[in-house]
Formats: sequence, structure tokens, C-alpha cells
Amino acid sequence: MKAAYVKAPFQFDLREVDLRQINADEVLIKVKACGVCGHDMIMASYGATEWQPFGHEISGVVEKAGAVVKNVKPGDRVVLESGTFDRYSDNSRNGRVDLDNKGPNFWLKDNDTMGFAEYIIVPNEVCVKFNGLSFKETSIIEPLGVSLDLATTADIKLNDDVLVIGLGPIGLMALRLARAMGARKVYGAELSIASARIDLAMKFDADEIICTDKIRLEDYKFARGGVDRVLVTAPPKTIPSAISICNVGGIVAFLGIDYGPEGNVTFDSNVFHTKKLQLRSSFASPALYFPRCIELIKSGVIDANALITHTFKLEDIAEGITGFRDDRAKGIKAIMEAD
Ligand SMILES: [Zn+2]
Repeated sequence: MKAAYVKAPFQFDLREVDLRQINADEVLIKVKACGVCGHDMIMASYGATEWQPFGHEISGVVEKAGAVVKNVKPGDRVVLESGTFDRYSDNSRNGRVDLDNKGPNFWLKDNDTMGFAEYIIVPNEVCVKFNGLSFKETSIIEPLGVSLDLATTADIKLNDDVLVIGLGPIGLMALRLARAMGARKVYGAELSIASARIDLAMKFDADEIICTDKIRLEDYKFARGGVDRVLVTAPPKTIPSAISICNVGGIVAFLGIDYGPEGNVTFDSNVFHTKKLQLRSSFASPALYFPRCIELIKSGVIDANALITHTFKLEDIAEGITGFRDDRAKGIKAIMEAD
């Protein structure tokens, strides 16, 4: 079968590889759709110093199930949790499965391939069945789970004013969820060049968009002076601004990556202290909430198709991903689709 590999900067290799036999508790999946994640773009630009397989936002069809697998059978349509919890860990047994990510997963396990391939072998535990949605739509489930974890971590309450920093797919869906969870005003912050993202944020019911290349968040006239909740889906260097524009008692929920020196940030602890703020991390590992995410798309709360601006075939992965990278005005989400 064919499988794609990446190495920085933006080199891609489509290789012919052999599929190993599946173990008794494993499942062979025919990949039907796989999303390009922001993490994949970081790997492609500087993270992947060696050739590596990639792609973890996967939906497909069960081709073969191992002898002891009971939860899925050949022909089932499934979306894959990128990793799950260890059912036997102390945290899981104490009711906090969200605090354990040492369970079954498909990240480079015994696989030398990932989602950008014709097939992938995965532990049966990560397969979540669905019906009534397309493969393209369900490739959004994994990042939607990330957005839902972020919005849940921020503990959005009825009538809160919410700011989402960074309007990539995760931020856009988080913005939509904030609205659905009862926010009074929803603000989005993004660079003005990202016009498609800004347009979609307005379609997703944002009240106001702040172009942070035009005005600093600290100078923006928020209706309540600041906001009650900030959802950060942007590099860590945005945390100090997020903290400074929080109202008393506010919560900043953060997910963002920078592997360079900008991974370290400083902020005014006296503001943080006297305003009784909370800075919380959202890290959707293990992957959770997939059944809820499937329902959110089915019920129309999240319009998955509106996010998908670019599609490509596995054979065209190099052009597909570099084309997406270069289309900053129009690009929101790119998906690899199989026939
Ligand atoms: Zn992802």
C-alpha cells in the first residue's frame, strides 16, 4: 500500500510499504479521510527532523478485525480516537479518565504508517462507530474534540463574555461552542490576512472580530472592559495579553504550541493575583467526547463542511499541503480524501 512521510522543511515522500498482519485485538482500517492538523504543519515546517509518517484525524472503514475484537466488524464506518486512557490506571479507576493518556493509541506504535496512507492498523479501543455523516465531515471529529475540551476547560457560563484568540479550525469550533454554551458576547481575535477564517467566524455567530495586527488586545474596547473567559488557540506568547484583558474572576484556557524559546512566557503576577484569575491548560490527550462531537455535527451546531476549504488525494499530498500553506487568505482546513 501507499503511505506518506514528512520531513522538514515541507518535504514529502509517498512510499510503497508492506502491511503487517494484525494482532488479535487490532483492526485494519481503510482510510477514507484524514485532516491536516496544525501540528502536522509544525512538523512539516520545522518539527520533523527525520522522515516520519503523519496524520491523526482519521475516518474510514473497518477492513479486517482481529479474532478477539467485539466492538467493530468489517464494513463499519469509524472515526479514530488519536489515543485513549488506560482503563487500569489509578486515575481512570478514580473516575478521571481525562488524566490518563497511557492507553491504546496508534501513534507510531508498531506502525510505520499513520493516517496519510491507504490503510492503518489500530487498537480496537480507539474505533468509534458512526452513521449518517460523510467521511469528510467525521475527519473533523478529532479536532472538534480538542475544541470541546478547550471550551469545557474554560467552564463557560450563561451570559459570559468570551474571547477566542486564534481562528483556525479549533478556534472557530470553540467559538461556535462558546455561543452554544450560552455566552453573551463572543469575540474572535485573528490576523486580518485570514479573511476566510474571519468570514466563517461571523457565520459561526461571532459578535466582533479583533484584528490583532491592527489593534492590540489590550487597547480594544470590550463591552465589559474585558472578558470573562479567554480561549487561546494560538502560540504561548499570547498568554500575557489574554491575562491582562480578563475581568475579575476570569479564566484563561490555553492550548498552543511553540517548541522554540517563545515557549517561555512571563506575565504580571500582581494582575493575575489581584484579579483572582485562573490559567488552565487544555490538552485533549486522551481523546474524549467523540460520541458528543458526532451529535454536534449531526444536529448542525457545528457545520463541518464549512470548515473544509481544501481537499486533495493521497497521491497529491505534497501539492495539497504546500498549496494549503500558501493559501493563507482562503485556507481553513485541508483534508485528504480517498476515492
Ligand atoms: Zn490534530
